[in-house]
Amino acid sequence: MPDFLYIHIPFCARKCIYCDFLSFPYDRDLALGYIRALCTELTLRKEGSGPLRSVYIGGGTPTSLPEDAFEMLFNVLREQYAFSSDAEITVEANPGSVDASKFRLLADLGVNRISIGIQSFIDDELKTLQRIHSSAEAVRAVETAEKVGIRNISVDLMYGIPGQTASSFQRSLSTACSLAPVHISTYELTPEERTPLFSEIRSGKLLLPEEEEVIGMYACAIDYLTSRGFSHYEISNFAVPGYESRHNLNYWDRGEYLGAGAGAHSFRGGSRARNTSDMNRYIHDLERSILPEEDSAIVSPEEALEELIFLGLRKTQGIALSAAEALGTDLVRSSGELIEQGYLETDSRFIRLTDKGLVLSNMVIVRLMKELGL
Ligand code: SF4
Repeated sequence: MPDFLYIHIPFCARKCIYCDFLSFPYDRDLALGYIRALCTELTLRKEGSGPLRSVYIGGGTPTSLPEDAFEMLFNVLREQYAFSSDAEITVEANPGSVDASKFRLLADLGVNRISIGIQSFIDDELKTLQRIHSSAEAVRAVETAEKVGIRNISVDLMYGIPGQTASSFQRSLSTACSLAPVHISTYELTPEERTPLFSEIRSGKLLLPEEEEVIGMYACAIDYLTSRGFSHYEISNFAVPGYESRHNLNYWDRGEYLGAGAGAHSFRGGSRARNTSDMNRYIHDLERSILPEEDSAIVSPEEALEELIFLGLRKTQGIALSAAEALGTDLVRSSGELIEQGYLETDSRFIRLTDKGLVLSNMVIVRLMKELGL
């Protein structure tokens, strides 16, 4: 029975230019109707869960919800689910939709980890991304979360933003560190098809930094953050030791989890399932106490191996060789050439990306999959 729960809140004040996540423009009536449906789903799913070790409320922008919606949600969570005494309870926050009152309420409800989507501390870059917040609001959001007593704060930053330079990214990194969060994620901006960013790049209105510059920004994040005491525990994630994200580690370890909310995925008993992304159907099904699952499939041994590689290699600890052996694969043998070329390294228990492999991780993963015939 999974002891990890993910809850999706698909509302945002405004769509960011690069976003391809499931999110709808925030509307109070729709959001309250959604939360009522979500509460029904959580009640229907409670049988399948053990005492929760982690609850992760992501989005969208969970903090776009009004305070009464959070109260409704946590009332149902506390009534229907048991929590382990050290449960990690995370809420993703947008600096443009939080204030001291909302953070205080979240802390009172038991939220002990806040992941703040800042992306950049440079106002021009935030404007390019069409984020709703300014750099000053981002600083204030971190300080306010700290003031209400939430110590476990994560900050998301982005590199590869049009107009960003090595020195402006360095400024974002050092501003982030000056606020003393215990966790920092740095993601490369990738223009997904069907986003306005993709069209603007294709039409030449926006220009991404050169690939070499982007690789340099990633290398700079690794050097700077590790020199400041962060452990680089996953391709994009850095933590003060002991503050690695429990929710994310479970995902990369292929641990089981329950997902609730429109478009949310679950993984349990060797099957992956997905809820409908259609908001009307989601609410309508749950009004009739029907779980709004759209599809569900047993993960085949090949798919399990594929997941083990693309998720496991993300962790700097790497993949446990025993996990690959359990799927009938000798990863060291299949990785011979990649090890010789210095992209992968192995010891008696794990196989992992080297520093050289980390910056070219996509290429290494594709080559390894090919070698394994996946
Ligand atoms: S805040 Fe996040 S989920 Fe919402 S539109 Fe922006 S990137 Fe997408």
